[in-house]
Amino acid sequence: MSAEIISGTQMRKEILAELEQEVVRMKEAHGKGPGLVTILVGENPASMSYVTLKIKTALSLGFHEVQDNQPDDISEEDLLALIEKYNKDPDIHGILVQLPLPRHINEDAVINAISPDKDVDGFHPVNLGKMVIGGDEVRYLPCTPAGIQEMIVRSGTETSGAEVVVVGRSNIVGKPISVMMGQKGPGANSTVTMVHTRTQDLAAHCKRADILIVAAGVPGLVKPEWIKPGATVIDVGVNRVGTNEETGKAILSGDVDYEEACKVAGKITPVPGGVGPMTITMLMKNTVKSAWWHLERK
Ligand code: NAD
Repeated sequence: MSAEIISGTQMRKEILAELEQEVVRMKEAHGKGPGLVTILVGENPASMSYVTLKIKTALSLGFHEVQDNQPDDISEEDLLALIEKYNKDPDIHGILVQLPLPRHINEDAVINAISPDKDVDGFHPVNLGKMVIGGDEVRYLPCTPAGIQEMIVRSGTETSGAEVVVVGRSNIVGKPISVMMGQKGPGANSTVTMVHTRTQDLAAHCKRADILIVAAGVPGLVKPEWIKPGATVIDVGVNRVGTNEETGKAILSGDVDYEEACKVAGKITPVPGGVGPMTITMLMKNTVKSAWWHLERK
């Protein structure tokens, strides 16, 4: 048996093409498209490359994109004032502050300062609370879990009644995806178990999973014998396991023993090219959603 590959790279293309059409319709209807500001503090190389990719994607979709770079000694007060300026800007529908921030700035204070209506990262406590309530209350889902759920649905995996096991309980992946898969509604209705470092017999839980979502940050943690034959495996882990001597680029690996897992799983995401490309895609989707809401509210 060889698993079907769930390609995040391919799904990103499909979703971005759908969003591009929406932006065209929005501009026809309202004379403007979605506005996204990306605030980058300092010059952390990884953050710079993430922000560059986000800007490039936003521009390719026809967004009004504002790049606001700030020095790493900006005070917390000034950063909060900058966010407030964008909260009030009618041309901006999404505010993204690239994390991590320098140590002298309280990240929670910054996240809390972003208007929940423009919190397209889905990190604001109000939006996380609405996610937990579920149904019509949901506004912006956090991007990586939203990407995971989208991949599960688009791959044709049945979620209703499925046993879902989530490895990891972080606030940005494990916890929210556990809640989302257990909600009432399409793409969910699953029976969810969240496992973590204190779990006894991780293998026994994983073996029960019809859908196994792994976000631990431990290369090769999940062994092929832990996978139920035919299961859908979503590998969120991105681990640097070496450097390519010719290109100097990092060699990345997931949390699942991919080669061997392919022989057991029904469907599986690769690393790279799996969940990774979906995160920015979901950020774009949230921004389009926010723009419609801001432009059409009475
Ligand atoms: P984290 O370090 O905040 O949390 C890891 C979680 O895994 C913890 O809750 C811990 O309890 C659990 N865990 C760790 N080792 C374990 C073990 N041996 N057994 C059982 N549970 C274990 O990590 P995170 O921020 O959720 O990220 C997890 C991985 O996903 C990382 O590799 C990260 O790079 C990757 N990630 C990828 C994307 C993306 O592709 N877009 C986004 C976010 C995170």
